[in-house]
Parts: sequence; structure tokens; C-alpha cells
Amino acid sequence: MTNHDIQVSVLGLGEMGGALAAALVAAGHPVTVWNRSPSKADPLVARGARAAATAGDAVRAGRLVIVCLLDDASVREVLEPLADDLAGRTLVNVTTTTPAQSREMAEWADRAGAAYLDGGIMAVPPMIGRPGASVLYSGSADAFHEHRRLLDLWGNSTYFGDDAGLASLYDLALLAGMYVMFAGFAHGAAMVAPAGVTAGEFAAMAAPWLTAMTGAFEGFAAVIDGGDYTVPGQQSLEFSDLTYLVAASADQGVSTEVVAMVQRLVQRQVDAGHGKEGFARIIESIRRPG
Ligand code: NAP
Repeated sequence: MTNHDIQVSVLGLGEMGGALAAALVAAGHPVTVWNRSPSKADPLVARGARAAATAGDAVRAGRLVIVCLLDDASVREVLEPLADDLAGRTLVNVTTTTPAQSREMAEWADRAGAAYLDGGIMAVPPMIGRPGASVLYSGSADAFHEHRRLLDLWGNSTYFGDDAGLASLYDLALLAGMYVMFAGFAHGAAMVAPAGVTAGEFAAMAAPWLTAMTGAFEGFAAVIDGGDYTVPGQQSLEFSDLTYLVAASADQGVSTEVVAMVQRLVQRQVDAGHGKEGFARIIESIRRPG
């Protein structure tokens, strides 16, 4: 059987689900779509998808069932009444969930007799099917390998193993880095605003600076993985004291929350006697909540 013979159903046609379904339709797959608000199916039907009247009809139409809803609660609300219909099918859930929710969903799918693959999408909808899009998977290895070519239509597919929680663990870990970086950008923009600098002007400076700074990850990682924060050539925790940054933020009349959070991570290590060691040691403040 070639990939194009597989009947695929997509449940959830929001911004992301719509983009995923569109990529499958564009590649020539027979796709059945369903959305709670039915009008979101119209553009896909115009391109060749078939609209199902109910979620149950959509599940029964597909051997491969893709779910992209808002959150775990909406997935459960839609799928739990359809457990019998899911038996013998493959369920790919690319809804953002916590690792615990992904594992619970995998157990539920197993009881329903469905193969389960959990996904974490590292892209925004316009990136789907374009270079730079990446989707992380974990759960059923057979499901991943059987449908790999189809999944690759969305972006670069990476499989992390049969623990269904791993894809969302990586997903949320990467999002954690992104959101804290975004908060850092917002903090900087707020700091310079009273000086008459627009957020756009600041963004033009921040983007190349932060891009260059990601070059430091590898060095931090080598120290963290080596477990020795005293190796030479590192910026020390004492040198990384951010008191001046917190004070300058307050002087600008903005919240100090973002930079004070980093300062607390640094200070806990300094207080524990590690001030001469490298900045990478802040991970120990995170590993052991204060
Ligand atoms: P969205 O545009 O807000 O769409 C949400 C979808 O969930 C809609 O189809 C909505 O149906 C449906 N829904 C919500 N509650 C429901 C319920 N109780 N019963 C049935 N359907 C329900 O969100 P999205 O951007 O497509 O995101 C979908 C998933 O992809 C989320 O888990 C999100 O975290 C993940 N994701 C999104 C992005 C992104 O950049 N957008 C990136 C990575 C991952 P209606 O149309 O009827 O409201």
C-alpha cells in the first residue's frame, strides 16, 4: 500500500489543524476533515477534502486519524465518546499537551485498541510544509515508521521513542526557552521605551544580538554535561551579578521581574559559595527549586 492509499482524517481545523490538513490535501491524500464550527472545513473542501458531519464520521472515515484541537480537555471531550470507533486505527495527536497528559492519552488509546503517536509541532501554521518546520513525535514506533512519509509533508519529523510523553517534554522544554527569550526581549523594549526608542528599533538590534548569543549554548552544555563548573574560560557567577541591571530597570520605571528572576538564580549559587564558578551553574538553581 502506498501512502496515498491511506484514508486520513483530520479533526480540528483551527489555524494549525487547517494548515496540516491543507498540506495533506495538496499532496494528493484522500482527506476527511471535521471541525466543531463546520465553516472552517469550507476552504479545504474547495481544495478536494471531504467534510464529515460529526467527529464520529470523521474517525470512521480514516485509518489514520489526526487530532489538532485546542488542548487535552478538548481532545478528550471529542474522542472519549468515540473509543469504540478508534479501535484498529492509528491516532496521531499533535495537540499541545503536557507529558503526563500525553502518556494518559496513550494509555487511553491503548485501551481503545488504537495505535498512538503523540506530536509536538515546532512551527507556526504558515511554516507547515516549508523548510524550518519541525514536528517531534513519540509513542508507537510502528505508527511513526508506517506514516513517516506523510508526516514529513508537514516538516522535519523526529521520533524520540515509545514513551508517548517525550515529544511534548521536548516541545515544552523548547517553548520554555522561547518564552523566556520573548520576555527578555519585551523587558529590553520596555527599558528603552522611556528613552524614545520604539519596539521596532529595539527589535532590529535585539534579533542579531540574541542570535549571536545562542552560540554560547554549546559551551554551557559542555560544562553542564561535564558536571564541572570550575573549568577555566567561563564567565563567573560573581561577574554575572545583575544588580546593576535590576537597578537600571527600576530607574526606567519598569518591572524588574524578568531580570530579578535571573538574578535570583545567580544569587542562590553565589550564596551557596559557588561565586567563582561558571554562569552555567545557574542550572543547579533550577534543578533544585529554592
Ligand atoms: P486554534 O486556531 O485556536 O484552533 C483550536 C481548534 O480547537 C479549533 O478547531 C476549535 O474548534 C477546536 N476546539 C477547541 N475547543 C474545542 C472543543 N471543546 N471541542 C471541539 N473542538 C474544540 O488553535 P491552533 O493554532 O489551531 O492550535 C491547535 C493546537 O496546535 C494547539 O494545541 C496548539 O498549542 C498547537 N500548536 C499551535 C501552533 C500555532 O502557532 N498556532 C504551534 C504549535 C502547536 P472551533 O473552530 O469550533 O473553535
